[in-house]
Amino acid sequence: MECFICQAKSTKLDPTGDHQRLACPECGEYKISNTALDLMKKNKLRFNVDIARDWLRRHQGSGEIPLINDIIAGNLV
Ligand SMILES: [Zn+2]
Repeated sequence: MECFICQAKSTKLDPTGDHQRLACPECGEYKISNTALDLMKKNKLRFNVDIARDWLRRHQGSGEIPLINDIIAGNLV
């Protein structure tokens, strides 16, 4: 599937909750809540690739997969 942030071909992973989880070769592994995806779609928003990747980088490597919820998504467009 396509990365929600940069549209690169990514691997869909099994979600552990009400979100999508994927591994993008460029952005890394992350989760995005279905609420955030609905919000993006409804408002025809697109992630700012640089800002979103910067946020992900700061939250990856802690052992937990970063989750982009609807509030965070609003800050990454
Ligand atoms: Zn990506």
